[in-house]
Amino acid sequence: MKSQPITLIHCAAVQDAANINIRNASIAISSGRIVWVGPRGQLPEDLAQYVVNEQSYDDLLVTPAHVNAHVHLDLTHVGPQPFSGCFGDWLRGIRRIRTEKAIPVKEAVAQGVRLSRDAGVGYAADIAGTVEAIEARRELAELMPLAGVSYMEWFGIGEMAEPRGEVQEQKLREVPYETSVSGHTRGIVAGIQPHAPYSTGRQVYMRAAKLSRQRAYRLSTHMAESMEELEFVAKGSGLFRQFLDEMEMWDESILEQGIGEGLHPVEFLERQLQRGRWLLAHCNFLADKHIEILAETGTSVAYCPIASDYFGHTGQGGKHAAVWENGECKDGGTEGDSGGRHRYREMLARGVNVALGVDSVICQPEDEGQAMGILPQMRYLYERDEMYGEEDAGLLLRMATVNGMLGMDMPEEDVLLLEGSPAVFCGVVFNPEEGTDPLVQVMENHEPARLLDFSMVQIPE
Ligand SMILES: [Zn+2]
Repeated sequence: MKSQPITLIHCAAVQDAANINIRNASIAISSGRIVWVGPRGQLPEDLAQYVVNEQSYDDLLVTPAHVNAHVHLDLTHVGPQPFSGCFGDWLRGIRRIRTEKAIPVKEAVAQGVRLSRDAGVGYAADIAGTVEAIEARRELAELMPLAGVSYMEWFGIGEMAEPRGEVQEQKLREVPYETSVSGHTRGIVAGIQPHAPYSTGRQVYMRAAKLSRQRAYRLSTHMAESMEELEFVAKGSGLFRQFLDEMEMWDESILEQGIGEGLHPVEFLERQLQRGRWLLAHCNFLADKHIEILAETGTSVAYCPIASDYFGHTGQGGKHAAVWENGECKDGGTEGDSGGRHRYREMLARGVNVALGVDSVICQPEDEGQAMGILPQMRYLYERDEMYGEEDAGLLLRMATVNGMLGMDMPEEDVLLLEGSPAVFCGVVFNPEEGTDPLVQVMENHEPARLLDFSMVQIPE
């Protein structure tokens, strides 16, 4: 490695979620990977002799590239949409827009990948609606890489669970397990996402967990996202029951598969959580015992704060809370110490790995210039939850980087500024003249993020 030409970049500050936090720093890069990080001017002589190229970013805080722990790249073309206040109408509306605005899946995914990278995201846990969406991301691996996991979305409930599960498994088996990405330890890996407990039967979840044990597929699902989901799982009634009726997918066998037995979605899935390592999107409505189950099973959570509040699923005025008593879901808002907000802080305190996700661009504000970025999610929590100060800002950086990799079961070193890590960074402007911590400044200013990708730089010998 040392005999290779080195690119040296100078930054106003560098920080990662572990031990690196240096003002006026340099990063030495060779063959797409970091070979050294330290204070500017202190590059060891044995490396300095190989420097062939220097670049300066005199007003940037440089961190590892961000990780989007839950996203639907293939919905990017739909764009931000308003929320009427009724989840059911919204879902129907999105289905309609998807049909009307239909563009080739590959274009939608490419747009999503480009917007993600433009916003400083280098890794993503993407929910792929089709095999085509998986292929689209992989085809970009050389020119516009976005490493991480593509979770193939699976459906099938009631009598359709087994036949659909079989077909989906067959399709997944035809997809190569991993596509490598230059400069990265792991490239783009295949995973499975049974959609959600109201659309996907237990048999499909069991099939996914089993296949994951055999072939190391990563696992994800939507979990405890809405009160309507809790009602459906507990009682087999409500909005999602209506949906299944509308689509002629409801049959009585659904009631033999754990639905309508008074269970919470986490309890509905508990056995499968024990059998594999899952990344659960949302988890807006959990009681203490469910957080305990996630901690015990090593389950990760992808929290998408802007999306959750967009639907009014948490936060905002304490309207909703994790209320779960005697097999009943209640929209009380005062349960526990969550104050009606998402309980990610409590989850973290109890050892649950919580990362940040965007979900889809649909739930993002129309005036957000970097809707596919993780930085807006960090700033949103920083403001909403008053996470002022270096320690909380550092926690947000951890949720935006390391925790996302852990959630995908990918190497956390890849998003730390360590020797051997991929040279893919997120840079944001701050004021180096100011004494305030650079990351705190970035949380408080409105500067956009940019991706600094040196993983593909090839310098001629
Ligand atoms: Zn989602």
